[in-house]
Amino acid sequence: MKTVSVKNRCKFRVAGKPAARLESIPAPAHVAAIPHQIPLIRPRLLVKPNDSVKLGTPLIEDKGNPNLKLLSPGGGHVMDIQYGPRRVIEAIIIKIAPDEPYVEFPVIDETQISGMGREEIIDALMARGLWPLIRGIPFKGVADPEEAPAAVWVPLDILDPFHPHSDVYLAEGPAKEQFLFGIKVLQKLAGRVCVCEHTDRPVPDERLRQVLTHRAAGPFPAGEPGVMHYQTKQSAKENRAWYVTGQDVLLLAEALLTGRYPTARVMTVSGGRPDNNRHVRSRIGAPLKSLVKQIDSPEAYRWVAGGLFTGYNAAPDGFMGLYETALMLVPEVTEKELLGFARPGLKKPTSSRTFLSAITRPTLTVDADRHGELRACVNCSYCAAICPVGILPQYTYKCIYAEEIEEALAHGLLDCVECGLCSYVCPSKIELTETFKDTKHKYYWGKI
Ligand code: SF4
Ligand code: SF4
Repeated sequence: MKTVSVKNRCKFRVAGKPAARLESIPAPAHVAAIPHQIPLIRPRLLVKPNDSVKLGTPLIEDKGNPNLKLLSPGGGHVMDIQYGPRRVIEAIIIKIAPDEPYVEFPVIDETQISGMGREEIIDALMARGLWPLIRGIPFKGVADPEEAPAAVWVPLDILDPFHPHSDVYLAEGPAKEQFLFGIKVLQKLAGRVCVCEHTDRPVPDERLRQVLTHRAAGPFPAGEPGVMHYQTKQSAKENRAWYVTGQDVLLLAEALLTGRYPTARVMTVSGGRPDNNRHVRSRIGAPLKSLVKQIDSPEAYRWVAGGLFTGYNAAPDGFMGLYETALMLVPEVTEKELLGFARPGLKKPTSSRTFLSAITRPTLTVDADRHGELRACVNCSYCAAICPVGILPQYTYKCIYAEEIEEALAHGLLDCVECGLCSYVCPSKIELTETFKDTKHKYYWGKI
């Protein structure tokens, strides 16, 4: 087994990490699909308010590939369709009926899988609405079924400090058997399936150990599939690969083995109050408020769905999307700190050793304050020192700023795995990651 180390110097001592205990919480009364969080598709709406839908009824299809559908994560009726700016479909909310009707797909078990071809398996996963769980490197969009990827990466743990632990989600019911079945399915899609554990969370189960191919070592983003692929690929011919998270392999397997659209998900919650910090068993599309314990003022927090470094701001009355398995409540900071720059900063995180916390190394609570204004780049190179794929983010950013896209590509823009670390460490508060992500998307759509 090959070990891939990510050597960067950003060690996070953050408070409020989710405890390994798993709680079952009451089933939500309504759930939602969030089409705009499925990257690089052009959604066409297939339902309207008050339509009756079953669990597994198509809600949207991709205009570019109508076989690519997003299915209803609940059975009942369409309670509301929420739109954002420029009529972006933000959420399709489904009120769940007491008897929750569901679409029945043909069951496909282990003996049938071995006789099926690649196309048949792709069709089966497309029909069950789970193809979007398989994503492509370098653009992180939904995998192109026409592509022959160099490998499919299956990370069991990406060490974002707030993501679900593999030893929790793989301990559930038949999860281990489903995982092994899911790996067999993926082996039909690509010649090489790379299953990756992290050295901090070794897999104890002997059967699972037999499918492991790689081990990641080091702090976040160790185990991130783009990083693993970048560190192990042999040539530019292998630039394109696919990935699917360990927990999503369970969903693929369950959809085939049961003939039903799977709903159950293990998610992490942190922040708000100390006993919130835990894993919960809920379902895809669950309302964010259903995951947290009662808190006095929800608006006092920023609700971040999707992890500490790679998540996005959600409204308290929002929902977990198809990909999201982590929710953080980060305290908002509304008051300006008087002469903040002159304080020793014992409780301020620092990567550039600006504050005394670099020596005392306390465990700190993350808050939503930027702790400074946007400034010009000072060429400090902290972003370059942290980048796991060897980009010089400050120069790539300047190329984009100057609209020199060819040069940005030559700098390795497409290798960027959007880990968020360069934005996190930048003392000038420059949104490097967002810029790289937007530029990659524009390049994908041929807009630059
Ligand atoms: S960390 Fe920020 S200020 Fe420093 S070189 Fe990178 S972009 Fe410039
Ligand atoms: S450029 Fe920034 S976001 Fe991209 S991989 Fe490097 S550190 Fe991560």
